[in-house]
Amino acid sequence: SSLEDTLLSAIRTIPDYPKPGIMFRDITTLLGNARAFRRAIDELVHPYAGTKIDKVAGIEARGFILGGAIAHQLSSGFIPIRKKGKLPHETVRVAYSLEYGLDEMEMHKDAVAAGEKVILVDDLIATGGTADGAVRLLRQMGADIVAACFIIDLPELGGRRKLEALDVPVRTLIAFE
Ligand code: IMP
Repeated sequence: SSLEDTLLSAIRTIPDYPKPGIMFRDITTLLGNARAFRRAIDELVHPYAGTKIDKVAGIEARGFILGGAIAHQLSSGFIPIRKKGKLPHETVRVAYSLEYGLDEMEMHKDAVAAGEKVILVDDLIATGGTADGAVRLLRQMGADIVAACFIIDLPELGGRRKLEALDVPVRTLIAFE
């Protein structure tokens, strides 16, 4: 079957989670499906095979799972981008916008060196507020962001355009209206 069919049928949709009116796209079923998980990772890394990617940055928490697998396949290091207060060493911190209000995320200051080539990873891009915060953190330390990769795009929410306006190429595998 096509990659798109494999991924679409492996993702579970939970209506009204976490609140009424939200259709939550749940990738735990994709992660539990060996073939779908491998195909998603293979497809995400495909354009970077044979190029030098120094680090993969994953956004807590689902970006850690995908980012770890991608980093391994590209023989890159891994950078955790976490909710505030979780990292033990010196950090850089940024505020980012959520659907309602603001939150903060952090990265260790020594996680990336100026000029290193980095791929940013999360499971899903909606408004792009979360990924935009991660881009600002990485660029604050001088990272060269090669791309931002997601399994799922919610195109109506405009995240792709937001990142592309910052000169971050965006790679997604499937879209839900
Ligand atoms: P954004 O900041 O509006 O782009 O929202 C993306 C962030 O919210 C990512 O970290 C996603 O993991 C999370 N998110 C938003 N909607 C969903 C969903 O339907 N399924 C899984 N994660 C979601």
